[in-house]
Amino acid sequence: MRGVIMDAPGRISVGDREEPRIVEPTDAVIRLVATCICGSDLWPYRGVEPVDHAAMGHEYVGIVEETGAAVKTVKPGDFVVGSFVISCGECPICRDGYQSKCVNYAFVGATIGTQAERARIPLADGTLVATPGMPDPDLIPSLLAASDVLGTGWYAADAAQVGAGKTVAVVGDGAVGLMGILAAGQMGAERIIAMSRYPERQALAREYGATDIVEERGKEGIAKIKELTDGLGAHSVIEAVGTQESFAQAIGATRPGGHVGFVGVAHKGVTLPMDKLFFAEIHLHGGPAPVRRYLPDLIDRIWKRQIDPGKVFDLTLPLERAAEGYAAMDQRRATKVLLTLDGERRAD
Ligand SMILES: [Zn+2]
Ligand SMILES: [Zn+2]
Repeated sequence: MRGVIMDAPGRISVGDREEPRIVEPTDAVIRLVATCICGSDLWPYRGVEPVDHAAMGHEYVGIVEETGAAVKTVKPGDFVVGSFVISCGECPICRDGYQSKCVNYAFVGATIGTQAERARIPLADGTLVATPGMPDPDLIPSLLAASDVLGTGWYAADAAQVGAGKTVAVVGDGAVGLMGILAAGQMGAERIIAMSRYPERQALAREYGATDIVEERGKEGIAKIKELTDGLGAHSVIEAVGTQESFAQAIGATRPGGHVGFVGVAHKGVTLPMDKLFFAEIHLHGGPAPVRRYLPDLIDRIWKRQIDPGKVFDLTLPLERAAEGYAAMDQRRATKVLLTLDGERRAD
């Protein structure tokens, strides 16, 4: 089968990969219907993380082709959405709703690579959720968004205790930040402040419910948030970048007693300023999102057309042209790139 491989930083190829098959009775093999490139795929692309001929991709929707004997909740022919973390659904951590830290967890990006025609999904019952039927084609981008960016933005808003009447600030205007805005709107936030410098992203932020835009960063950005909140800061802050600067921004923008939901992937060397944190008197909660916890609800909202997260994809390319997609995201010509598999299917 065909699949995306990152040969080295900045070097993407699409080549032949081993055909997946059922190995464990809890496995499912799915045929991908759509997949996409994530902001986190840019870390190795830019050489921030080491990479050597790695199979890429962790966001996916597809149709189940085959299941192992122990799989109960999905069957061949089902359209499924899966989390970017494999989880068992049965351990104490899964039962507490933290499937991304399941005792049997595995990151799909590191172990499977779903920018491909097919994928073997271990622990299918704990990882995949079937949709109520075959989706209309226009719902596919939104269902794909649920696999990571929507689920991650939703978790960030949840972790930041977004709710009715609250003021929310969102640090980061990438796909996850935009999904955090969408989530905050759905959760009833009264005011949503998007921190963004890019006009197209500002427009989508407003469409998803942002009431204010702050272009300033650093000290000026924090001052602006304070100015908009009677000098207090936001009740809830979503941090969707993962750098030292963005974290400082998030902490500085939160009012005492407020909550930060952080989902930007922090890399080695990013540290918390304990002196600032000590006196800030705020709550911090975040990490890799337990997307699986939210999938049934998110699929339901998408199915009923209450939300349209699929708009976050602003470039669609066939899998074979994945290299162009990586370059477009790297150069910020695209916020998020959807990769289609139709062409390949027809060629079969
Ligand atoms: Zn992702
Ligand atoms: Zn588990």
